[in-house]
Amino acid sequence: MRVEVLGIKIDHFSMQETVAHIQEAVEKKKQTWVVTANPELIFAAGADARLKQLINRAQLVTPDGIGVVWAANRLGHPVSERVTGIDLLEALFPLIGKKKWRVFFLGSKPGVAELAAQKVAEQYPGVEWQAQHGYFQPGEQAEILDRIRKFQPDLLLVGLGAPRQEFWIASHPDLATVNMGVGGCFDALAGLNKRAPQWIRNIHLEWLYRLLKQPQRIRRQMVLPKFVWQVMKQGKNEQKKHTRRVR
Ligand code: UDP
Repeated sequence: MRVEVLGIKIDHFSMQETVAHIQEAVEKKKQTWVVTANPELIFAAGADARLKQLINRAQLVTPDGIGVVWAANRLGHPVSERVTGIDLLEALFPLIGKKKWRVFFLGSKPGVAELAAQKVAEQYPGVEWQAQHGYFQPGEQAEILDRIRKFQPDLLLVGLGAPRQEFWIASHPDLATVNMGVGGCFDALAGLNKRAPQWIRNIHLEWLYRLLKQPQRIRRQMVLPKFVWQVMKQGKNEQKKHTRRVR
């Protein structure tokens, strides 16, 4: 059961269920692509048919952010809760440590993915990792792909920013058992971008906190009112169709 928000099919799973799906995928070696779909990505997919098609091929698409949770509710198919990339990683790391999974961190500025991985491994000593920054030249890619293949990751985290990371994962689907686009999560894990305090997250205002800390995000967040408008339009259209059918 998925809810379609502006053409993107979102899973209704809770955080715990999402973690369980990923665990099963790794244990049964079922190739799985996890997309954490925030309103910006969903909106971008509305203007890019190829991106929309790709995301709808992913095995798990989580509601990343309160905007998507609101949209699902508004459209009459509530999802359990918000499952953001960073929260999902934080929920996965204890399991990864316990199971000694191999994780490849790809993305962010030089040194950041390593620092993020080191911090994670310090906290969860079982995590086996390798890292590579995300500012490589096209000519360096073959060597990086080779390194990832040799490492045989259970989990490949790709933090190249959306939607570049989605296209990248779609072009290299067989590098790891589970592939996941993580945007700027390495920056947060490395401690470069502090996350909002828990009480701010609890009242669903993390987006505002990030905006105040990084005012340059305003251009991206300008998409939000348009996202809301389009979801309301989708809701009305669906209602009209339903009324016509009932008559
Ligand atoms: N990034 C990268 N290579 C690039 C461009 C960006 O590795 O060529 C990284 C960047 O350093 C940052 C991440 O991609 O760590 C994008 O973070 P942002 O918060 O903008 O992405 P979001 O989480 O919103 O997708």
